[in-house]
Amino acid sequence: MINLLTVDLEDWFHICEVEHLLPREKWDRFPSTVVADTEKLLSLVAQTNSRATFFVLGYVADNYPDLIKRIHDLGHEIGYHGWDHELVYKLSPQEFRQILHRGIECIERLIGKRPIGFRAPQWSINKGSRWALEILAEEGFVYDSSLAPLKIIGNESYPRIPWKIETARGNLWELPPLTLKTPFGHYPAGGSWGLRLLPYPILKQRVREFNRRQLPTLFYFHPREFGGRKGPIGLPASKKFALYGGVWGSKSQFVKLLADFRFTSIENYLSEFKSPPAFTCSSI
Ligand SMILES: [Zn+2]
Repeated sequence: MINLLTVDLEDWFHICEVEHLLPREKWDRFPSTVVADTEKLLSLVAQTNSRATFFVLGYVADNYPDLIKRIHDLGHEIGYHGWDHELVYKLSPQEFRQILHRGIECIERLIGKRPIGFRAPQWSINKGSRWALEILAEEGFVYDSSLAPLKIIGNESYPRIPWKIETARGNLWELPPLTLKTPFGHYPAGGSWGLRLLPYPILKQRVREFNRRQLPTLFYFHPREFGGRKGPIGLPASKKFALYGGVWGSKSQFVKLLADFRFTSIENYLSEFKSPPAFTCSSI
């Protein structure tokens, strides 16, 4: 059974809710670590010959076009992650469409192929921005991975397995991140938090359970979680922890995970499994 490896390709200063400390107009002056961090991630992924989907931020593609071409040449999928890390629910439908057009054009120019997958920054498509799913379908996207079955940043009632979204303008596959049910709610087991804080045997068992049911698990990472350098800006302790807390230990967990299970891109998965075992859901 196949599992899904995804990366939000962005720099350390592309984090949400600290815009006052890391304003857009200062980005070009911050020391970027995205190329070096991504190279480390690529070398780990190459050890097991795994493939991944890289949801690329337009800002990064524009500044480091060779990095995007290189990732594509290595056989990974290039998806889209917005241009300037805009939260979708804060955009108008017109603004969202413009951002999609800008990214599609940029990615197509770099790799000769349109992206078919989208991930909203911070899982920011929700019930209030459902229109975004219709626009994605209309603009030719095949799948979305922006609905987290998690409290606060998503909704725990969203399906926790691949599912099909029917919109007025076409259908989309929805690929949610792996979560773990706990007495306190769903835990984001598929993110770097899963590797940082969960004992590896628990994570491994969860992946096995999914795979036994012929379902893929979906993991999501960021290049900064694999690099050695830290952003120099005086962020609050909570944000520093969110960026870097426990990431050293998580790298060895990541290597184990890739060695223990087969991972590929979402595009490969959808082409290999023409009809994922999906169902429709009315909570979005
Ligand atoms: Zn992001």
